[in-house]
This record gives sequence, C-alpha cells and structure tokens, in this order.
Amino acid sequence: MIESAQVVIVGSGMGGGTLAWGLAQRGIDTLVLERGDVLPREAQNWSPEAVFVERRYKPAETWLDDDGNEFHPGVHYVVGGNTKVYGASLPRLRERDFAERVYPSGVSPAWPFAYADLEPYYGQAESLYRVHGSVGEDPSEPWRSSPYPYGPMPHEPYVAETMLRLEAQGLHPFSTSMGIDVRPGGTCVRCQTCDGFPCRLGAKSDAETCALGPALAGGSVRLLTGARIRSVEVGDDGRVVRLHGDVDGEPLEVSGGSFVLAAGAANSAAILLASRSDRFPTGVANSSGLLGRNYMVHNNTHLAAIDPRRRNDVVFQKTMAVNDYYEDLGDGYPGGTIQLIGKVQGSMMKTHATRVPLAMLDRAAQRSLELLVMSEDLPSVHNRVTVDAEGRIHISWRRTNYDRHEALLAQAKRVLRKAGYRGIFEQRFSIDMNSHMCGTAVAGQDPATSVLDGWCRSHDVRNLFVVDSAFFPSSGAQNPALTIAAQALRVAHETDWGLDA
Ligand SMILES: Cc1cc2nc3c(=O)[nH]c(=O)nc-3n(C[C@H](O)[C@H](O)[C@H](O)COP(=O)(O)OP(=O)(O)OC[C@H]3O[C@@H](n4cnc5c(N)ncnc54)[C@H](O)[C@@H]3O)c2cc1C
Ligand code: SF4
Repeated sequence: MIESAQVVIVGSGMGGGTLAWGLAQRGIDTLVLERGDVLPREAQNWSPEAVFVERRYKPAETWLDDDGNEFHPGVHYVVGGNTKVYGASLPRLRERDFAERVYPSGVSPAWPFAYADLEPYYGQAESLYRVHGSVGEDPSEPWRSSPYPYGPMPHEPYVAETMLRLEAQGLHPFSTSMGIDVRPGGTCVRCQTCDGFPCRLGAKSDAETCALGPALAGGSVRLLTGARIRSVEVGDDGRVVRLHGDVDGEPLEVSGGSFVLAAGAANSAAILLASRSDRFPTGVANSSGLLGRNYMVHNNTHLAAIDPRRRNDVVFQKTMAVNDYYEDLGDGYPGGTIQLIGKVQGSMMKTHATRVPLAMLDRAAQRSLELLVMSEDLPSVHNRVTVDAEGRIHISWRRTNYDRHEALLAQAKRVLRKAGYRGIFEQRFSIDMNSHMCGTAVAGQDPATSVLDGWCRSHDVRNLFVVDSAFFPSSGAQNPALTIAAQALRVAHETDWGLDA
C-alpha cells in the first residue's frame, strides 16, 4: 500500500492523537498511522479478570532486560494508546520542574522552554480533556491563566474522612485533577473499574475520545489502523522522504511533507534506531548519540494501607492527592507526590499475590486504601532503549535518585500510620511497570546534548518530529499525560507545517 499526506503521524496516543486534533484546527492534511485497532466497547472492559489476569488489551509482545529476561511492557497498541486504560489523573508539572534541580545524587536538567511557554497550552489541553479540578487547595500548584474547565470530583465519605485525618497532621490534601466526564449531563457513572481499565461508556478523557475522534470528524485528518511503521528513509537532501512498515501483513510506504513519531518513548526511539544504514550507522536523528538514552519511568511504589476498623466502601477512589512534600521533604530536597489510585479489588491483587486465596484478598481489599507514591528519577545515558537485528526492544534500566524515593516512601508510611492505617503493604514498580516512560529523545537547545529542539523537531532531520513522552528532558514527579498533550498542542500551533517541507 502507498499512502501520502502533508503531515504523517505515527501513533494515536496522547502525543499523536492530540497533535492530530491541533492540526485539524488548522485544516492541515494529516494521516495518522496506528499499529493497533479500535479497542471495542464490550463487557470485558470492566472485568478485572479480563484486564489484569488475562491481559486482554495488552500486546503479546515482550521486551528484554539487560540479562535477556523477557517482560511484558506497560504498553497498549490500540487507537488512543495507553490513554485508553490510563487513570486520567491530569496534573500540570510544577513551574520549578522546568528548571534545573540539584539532588544529592544527581541533576534534573532544565527544559529548553519555561512553564510560561507551555502554560496557555496546558489550559487548552485541560479544556480538550475535560479536566475537573480545584484551584487553591494544592500547596505546590503552579500559576494558571485560566480556571479549570470543570469543578473537582466530589470525594466519597471514606476519602473525605481520610482527608480530615491528614489535615489533622497539618497536611493539605487536595482534589486530584481528573479527566472524567462528570460534567452536568456527563456520561460517567462513577464505577470502580476506571484506573487501568478502558471505559465502556466513553466517559474517560482518552486521546481517542477527546482528540482523535473529533479530529477525524473535521475531514482533514485520516486514520489508518493496523499500520505498523518500522523505519524512516532519509533522502539525499537530508530530509525524511518515506516511512516503511506494513499494514495487515502487506508492505506499506508513506510519503509526505513532515513526519511525526508519536509511538511512545520506547517505540519512537526504536523506529529511529532501526533505521540505521551505512549513512546513519547509529540510526536516524542520532548525531548526538543520545537517541534511546535517558530512558526514565518515575520512581513509583503502590501502597495498600489497611485500617482494620474501617470498611472502605468507596466506589471511585482516585479523587485526592498530597503534594506537601513535592518541593521539599523537610531536608531541602524535593520528595514527590502521594496520590490515591483506583480502588483495588481482590482479583487485581491476585496477579501479584498468586498464592493467597482470593477470599482473603477480597477481605483485605474491603479495608484497604490504595495509593501511588511517585518521585522523580533522573536521566542517565546508561538507561536506554536499543533494538536488536530482529527488531526486538531491549531496555537497560537501573534505578536513579532512589534515595529520594525511599525518603518519600518512609514519610508516606509515617503519615498513613498516624492516620490509623496499621498494616501497610508495598509494591515497588519493576521494569515492566513502565507506563510513565519518557526521555528517549530528549529536547534541548544544544544539538550535541539533545535529540530534539524545544518544538520536538529533530536537530538533524528538519522535517522529522517526535511528539510523545520521548521529548521530556526530565521526568518531574507528576503524571505525564497532560504535559504530553500540552506540548503536542504547542507543536501543532507553533510549527510552520508544510510551508517548510
Ligand atoms: C494503566 C495506566 C495508567 C496510567 N495512568 C495515568 C494517569 O493517571 N495520568 C497520566 O498522566 N498518565 C497515566 N498513564 C501514562 C500515560 O497513559 C502515558 O504517559 C501516555 O499515554 C503516553 O503518551 P504517548 O503519546 O507517549 O504514548 P501512547 O499514548 O502509548 O501512544 C503511543 C501509540 O503509538 C502506537 N504505536 C507504537 N508503535 C507503533 C508503530 N511502530 N507504528 C504505528 N503505531 C505505533 C501505539 O499503539 C499507541 O497507540 C497511565 C498508563 C497506564 C498504562
Ligand atoms: S469511572 Fe466513569 S470514566 Fe471511569 S470507567 Fe467508569 S464510567 Fe468510565
């Protein structure tokens, strides 16, 4: 099959789907190539067994760690990408996250643009993704020029009481910024199977529902599903002339004016690394040697905190977070964020606690509160994505900045114990829990130390862009999706598409 468009986007997730929406606003002829299909709305969408135990929506594909062990990565190859199952917590990064931060064990580098440059696009992304939130509760929140489009999600009584217990300790728990359609007349029914599950009602603000779908309706954007891109071809003039891949098993060639990789941090790097040739022995857009390097994932731990005296009857749990330790954990260095996650059910615990009887897990789940403790990891050239001769993805990964995570984790546990939680169980994220991955094609001003410029354009190949989480120069300690979306809108709006092609 041969295809062509003014702008060709590879991947329809947070970066690609949002960029397509931005280009649709400008009427630009755009083709989105997505390796997956539309995720069906079906009963299994909300089945913990189907989603977590049978991994119904995850690819069979495995990646390899440094020791050659296979693992199932946290990716979803469907229209909308990982946002189809994400938890829809959509915070902004903090203003300080865009500047250099010095930690005891390393440096979090500055971004090539400031919070102020992204701020208007954060507001647009919040409107596009129907974000519900509240101003003035979060002590670390950055300034904003527009209010949240919708007010915060109400807390259920169990969460409200937990917040009082935290406030009694001098903390400032606040309403999580959520992309869930609980607007007046909205279609969300506030179910227990949201975080990690697809929404059977289309009420979750994922990239297909909020960005790509409306973009396709405009007429200037087309979508080709089942289309996997494997490499890019650079012409004698130093510009990309074609993408190569396959669609439903048949060869696919796509020409165009500008080419955007938005296949997720690992796959976008993998496509460029796999495009190696005599002319580009280390891959395309890799004169810095940094392509695939600086792979970050956040330092994350799930906690299950059990208060045996209180039954947790909450349905939608993910409404509260604590950022009191974001800038300073009390020792002059940043800690990170502590946030509620979706209510975990016994059958979901079964994927890890395989030997514990389900009835026992169900009883524990009835009295537990589940949280995510998240802190910043640091870019390291040793943490990297590579691709072997068969095209398989390899991940080299060692934890960075982990002393900060240990300190935040210890503080989170102290606070929870004071709030009445007697048993606290933890699950530290391992190499396969990489859904917050970023940084494999970092943006920067200097072509010697970065792969992309501040508008996600390759320093080397000027009609090539990477508009997904790969551009992050640092990971911050906030959920990444809103920042990916805001930057996609900025790139869509501020790039002279086609006129420069
Ligand atoms: C369970 C879960 C919960 C999460 N919760 C949150 C949350 O609450 N808040 C938050 O901010 N983030 C959350 N995330 C992370 C968030 O979903 C990602 O950060 C975000 O989707 C990344 O956007 P992206 O554009 O980089 O990649 P993706 O959204 O993953 O999109 C990549 C797309 O490219 C396609 N693709 C890949 N390779 C190719 C190829 N070779 N050819 C063609 N297409 C290709 C994929 O199929 C996919 O559609 C969560 C993720 C998961 C898995
Ligand atoms: S809570 Fe609302 S948005 Fe989330 S899956 Fe349920 S109905 Fe959908």
